[in-house]
Amino acid sequence: MKYTVTSRGDKTSDAIARKVKAYLHEFELSHDKEEPDIVISVGGDGTLLEAFHAYSHRLDDTAFVGVHTGHLGFYADWQPDEVEKLVIHIAKTPFKVVEYPLLEVIVRHNGERKSERFLALNECSIKSMEGSLVMDIEIKGELFETFRGDGLCMSTPSGSTAYNKALGGAILHPSLASIQLAEMASINNRVYRTIGSPLVLPQHHTCLLKPKNDVDFQVTIDHLTLLQQDVKSIQCRVAEEKVRFARFRPFPFWKRVKESFIHD
Ligand code: NAP
Repeated sequence: MKYTVTSRGDKTSDAIARKVKAYLHEFELSHDKEEPDIVISVGGDGTLLEAFHAYSHRLDDTAFVGVHTGHLGFYADWQPDEVEKLVIHIAKTPFKVVEYPLLEVIVRHNGERKSERFLALNECSIKSMEGSLVMDIEIKGELFETFRGDGLCMSTPSGSTAYNKALGGAILHPSLASIQLAEMASINNRVYRTIGSPLVLPQHHTCLLKPKNDVDFQVTIDHLTLLQQDVKSIQCRVAEEKVRFARFRPFPFWKRVKESFIHD
């Protein structure tokens, strides 16, 4: 099996990453940064987001596992003192894979420019460069509402515990192949009206966001911020691709939610 190790880059994470590499070398596993079967990410959930984007072109052939050097994470669920155990698992046992849904985002531009396609593990957020964001929201080809407010956030189920949660969105179990649209401070009065609740869309529903006046936006895909100019539409749906996590022991999603947000 071929592996690679990524690190958040702080002293502790780098030291643990070196330890993991040394152990795996002892087990005679081959290090392959270009085409790994497994990526061991050491840091936090943010580090795993970066690892995901580094290998998003080979999701069918790469599985991820995360070691958390801070508090317990959603994607990074192994503790530093468990690293030896994890390495033995990687070296000795064929791992089980758990697949989580991803968000596909296609940005189309006015004029000749080619459309751009992105995959998000957590979410895509859209904000205006200046003033309020005003967009028509179409669901399955039908106009649903005209949104006016600070911004919109379209998240995956595993991303529902991140930005989406801060916006009052629901926490979705990652076995649900769906995406969730959450509002950021919508303007609601006698002139403007939005639904006000987060919407959960199934796999076969596409959401199309069409600018009403401004065409330049700040779009984030997970930790990446992109300036998108001259936008005609932003299309969001559940991606065909899935992310694969290597699971060596059960760690139920609701236990992770409880331990992260309620108590250990
Ligand atoms: P950051 O601002 O440095 O950290 C964002 C925080 O979100 C970190 O504590 C990170 O955990 C945590 N996180 C990431 N994915 C998560 C998930 N799926 N469930 C629960 N917590 C999660 O930014 P970053 O490290 O580059 O991460 C980018 C993410 O930040 C975005 O995808 C977005 O979800 C999130 N974000 C949140 C808010 C908000 O809550 N108001 C605003 C903007 C962006 P670790 O410490 O383990 O890395």
